[in-house]
Amino acid sequence: MIRIFFSAPGWAEYQPFLPAALKAAGIEAEIVTEAPEPASIDYILYAPSSLLQDFAPFTRAKAVMSLWAGVERIVGNQSLTQPLTRMVDHGLTESMVEYVTGHVLRHHLGMDRHILNPGHIWDPTCPPLARQRPVTFLGNGELGLACARALQALNFPVKTWGRSEKSIEGIASHHGPEGLAPALAGAQIVVTLLPNTPQTHDILSAQTLALTAPGAVIINPGRGPLIDDQALLAALDSGQISHATLDVFRIEPLPQDHPFWAHPRVTITPHIAADTRAMTASDVVAENIRRSEAGLPLLHLVDRNRGY
Ligand code: NAP
Repeated sequence: MIRIFFSAPGWAEYQPFLPAALKAAGIEAEIVTEAPEPASIDYILYAPSSLLQDFAPFTRAKAVMSLWAGVERIVGNQSLTQPLTRMVDHGLTESMVEYVTGHVLRHHLGMDRHILNPGHIWDPTCPPLARQRPVTFLGNGELGLACARALQALNFPVKTWGRSEKSIEGIASHHGPEGLAPALAGAQIVVTLLPNTPQTHDILSAQTLALTAPGAVIINPGRGPLIDDQALLAALDSGQISHATLDVFRIEPLPQDHPFWAHPRVTITPHIAADTRAMTASDVVAENIRRSEAGLPLLHLVDRNRGY
């Protein structure tokens, strides 16, 4: 019998799924939501909103499994010496694909013109076809690539950019610092799905925002620090960027006095692009514990040096 410490909010959502998923994976487990005896715990399920900060007393723990995809709030924790995994789950990915596709189509089709039409203006201008609307993804990992493929299937010409070189069928793929300019050149819609690391901070700056097509749209469901807020506001005011749809911010909830709230061409969604779904995430956790118990390598391991 192994002992799992569920150190995250939302146990009620996992209760119908996690014990069943563990059982189906052949794992006999006791799940606790408090750990008065840390040395008795075999696995820790973790979310950043958990109060747990000191992992040192968990001397028996074989892994800490983040229920979130982004791990910037735990990856630098010096007391964490156990292997750290992050959440890669098809429910989360589906959710991000739906969010990104929906917001891209909103801007591509110019839906606001017809939804918000107080003057009842009859303007029969048709939008271009998707094949005429270049989209660039900064980040071509689990989420960026899944979204890129969904847009590719709708005929959008898609480019992606990542850290390492990749060959992706049907998608122009750039990498490294020198690949950023060609990735952004001509983009009419830019979607940022990078992790929050020192290397990705302000990746959208005055300099890089100027590389997109004039009037481009920014969609950021990645992390707030990817964008220099002041540079984005200036680019919105100059018209270089026509709209920004932002799901994530440097401070969350976004403070009421932040200029994004009042800006007419900023859409704010409250970090809802892709939530971990207990229904599907439970299977991912169970499979990883099964692998660990069988002596197999853990899936979705975080590279502490890279920070994601
Ligand atoms: P992932 O699979 O780790 O992909 C990360 C991507 O970023 C990879 O393509 C990686 O390149 C690239 N990258 C990292 N550092 C880079 C750098 N310095 N220069 C260029 N490219 C770099 O992560 P994911 O699962 O797709 O998730 C991406 C992010 O989405 C998460 O970290 C999280 O912050 C965010 N997220 C947001 C929500 C939400 O609700 N808003 C939900 C889930 C996740 P390589 O592949 O070459 O390493």
